[in-house]
Amino acid sequence: MIRRVLPHDLGRGLLTRRPGTRRGGFSLGKVEDDRGHCGSGLSPTSDCVSFRTRNHGPHWQDNWDGKVSEIKKKIKSILPGRSCDLLQDTSHLPPEHSDVVIVGGGVLGLSVAYWLKKLESRRGAIRVLVVERDHTYSQASTGLSVGGICQQFSLPENIQLSLFSASFLRNINEYLAVVDAPPLDLRFSPSGYLLLASEKDAAAMESNVKVQRQVGAKISLMSPDQLRNKFPWINTEGVALASYGMEDEGWFDPWCLLQGLRRKVQSLGVLFCQGEVTRFVSSSQRMLTTDDKAVVLKRIHKVHVKMDCSLEYQPVECAIVVNAAGAWSAQIAALAGIGEGPPGTLQGTKLPVEPRKRYVYVWHCPQGPGLETPLVADTSGAYFRREGLGSNYLGGRSPTEQEEPDPANLEVDHDFFQDNVWPHLALRIPAFETLKVQSAWAGYYDYNTFDQNGVVGPHPLVANMYFATGFSGHGLQQAPGVGRAVAEMILKGRFQTIDLSPFLFTRFYLGEKIQENNII
Ligand SMILES: Cc1cc2nc3c(=O)[nH]c(=O)nc-3n(C[C@H](O)[C@H](O)[C@H](O)COP(=O)(O)OP(=O)(O)OC[C@H]3O[C@@H](n4cnc5c(N)ncnc54)[C@H](O)[C@@H]3O)c2cc1C
Repeated sequence: MIRRVLPHDLGRGLLTRRPGTRRGGFSLGKVEDDRGHCGSGLSPTSDCVSFRTRNHGPHWQDNWDGKVSEIKKKIKSILPGRSCDLLQDTSHLPPEHSDVVIVGGGVLGLSVAYWLKKLESRRGAIRVLVVERDHTYSQASTGLSVGGICQQFSLPENIQLSLFSASFLRNINEYLAVVDAPPLDLRFSPSGYLLLASEKDAAAMESNVKVQRQVGAKISLMSPDQLRNKFPWINTEGVALASYGMEDEGWFDPWCLLQGLRRKVQSLGVLFCQGEVTRFVSSSQRMLTTDDKAVVLKRIHKVHVKMDCSLEYQPVECAIVVNAAGAWSAQIAALAGIGEGPPGTLQGTKLPVEPRKRYVYVWHCPQGPGLETPLVADTSGAYFRREGLGSNYLGGRSPTEQEEPDPANLEVDHDFFQDNVWPHLALRIPAFETLKVQSAWAGYYDYNTFDQNGVVGPHPLVANMYFATGFSGHGLQQAPGVGRAVAEMILKGRFQTIDLSPFLFTRFYLGEKIQENNII
C-alpha cells in the first residue's frame, strides 16, 4: 500500500529535473545559510577563495593568492599568539550543490559513488560528493574487518551479492584501473571457508547448501570422516556435517579495496570532503494513503557539513542523500526525522542499525595448520584463518546477546579471548593449545538488530534518502554489488541486476524479517 503511494523514482525526478549543478554565483561575503543568516566573514570569504580559484584563470588566482597572503600577514601581526591562522586554506570545503551527497566514505559509500559514475548516462552528468568525517578511517568498519568473502549464506540475495563481488575482486584492475597508477594487489587468498555444524544444525546447513548451489556457488558437503581426511588437524568431536567452499571464497586486503575505490572515484570526478554531516534541511508534506491514513512525506534539500576542527558548516544543496554511515547510520537516519513518529507507524520506525563491538585476536602458533587452511567457523561460533605466511592466525567469536560488550569505545577485552574464544579453538584444533596471542583489535559491526541483513534503497517517507548499510559483518564483501544496486535504484528507479527488494526499509515496519542465518 505504502509502496504504491510512494514510487521509488521520486528522487530520480528531482535529479533529472536539475541535471547539472550551478558553478560560480558564489559571491564574496554573501554566503547565506538555510536560516537566512549571512556568513560570519572569515570562513565564507575564504569559501569564496576556493570557488573563485576554481572558476578563474591562473593569473587571477596569483593575484588573489597574493592578496590573501597579505591579509593573513596583517592579521597575524596584530593578533597575539604565533600559531593563530584564521585564514586557513578552505579548498577542502564541499561545493554549494551536489546532485548526490553520500554520507560516509567507507567501502559502501565509495562503491555507491563508483557505480553512480559508472552508470551515469554521459560522463559528468551527475555530481557526486562523498562526505567523510575521518579520513584516517580510525574507527571505520572497513579497515578493521578481517577481509573475508564467502558464498555460504542462507539467503539467495546474499549469495548473489557475494558471487558478483568475487568476480569484481577477481577483475579488480579492469574495474578500478586508473591511468598511470600502479595496478591494485588485493592479496586475495582463495583458501575457502569451512563451516562446521553440530547434529542440531546439520539439517539447516544441508538446506543452505542446496540454496547456495542453486544460485551458482560451488560448495561441497563433508562428513566427519571426509573432514578428517582432508584436514587432519581438526578434531571432529561434535561435528555432524561440514560445508566447504571450493571457489570464490577466501580473504583479501580491505584497505587496498578501499584505497582502490577512492582513487578510482576521484579519477571519475567524485568530490570528497572531510567533514561531519550534522543536519538536514527538509520540507514536509502531509499526504493520505489509499486507506486514508495520514503520512508526512519529507524531502531533504540541504545537507549541513561541519568542517573538521571548526564550528563552521557548509550547506550543500542536493537532490539525493545516500546514508552509508555504517555503524552510525541510525544517527544519520534520525537527523532526517526517520523514526520520529508514533510507535507502530511507518513514521515511528527507526533504522535498526547499531554499532556492535567485535574483537579480532592475532596469534602465533608454529605447530598450527598449514598453508591450505581455509577460514574455519566452528560449531561454537569461534572462527580463525591464517594471517600471512609465518604461522600467524587471526580469529574471534561474536558474543552472545548477553555477552555483548559496551560499544562506547574500541578497547579490547583480552579476557574474552581467554574465556570465550581460546577454549573452543583449542578443542577444535588441538595444536592451538600452545598458541601465543600477539595483538588484537576491535571494530564495529554495522549491526542490524532486526534480521542481521543489509538495508538497501530509498526510505518510503524521506523519499530522497537511500540506504546502503546494516550488513552486520558481511558488508565489505558485498560492497561491489550493493553499490551497484543503490546506483541502479537512484538512476533507473529499480534494481536491475540483483533484485534486493527484500532489503528495503519497509520490511521493518511490516515486520517481514529476512533472517540471514550464516553471520560469523
Ligand atoms: C571485526 C570486523 C570484522 C569484519 N569482517 C568482515 C569480513 O570478513 N567480511 C565482510 O564482508 N565484512 C566484514 N566486516 C563488516 C564490514 O567491515 C562492514 O560491513 C563494512 O565495512 C561496512 O562498510 P561501511 O562503508 O558501511 O562502513 P564504514 O567502513 O564504517 O564507513 C562508514 C563511514 O561513515 C563515516 N561517518 C559516520 N557518520 C558520519 C557523519 N555524520 N558524517 C560523515 N561521515 C560519517 C565514518 O567515519 C565511516 O568512515 C567486519 C567488521 C568488523 C568490525
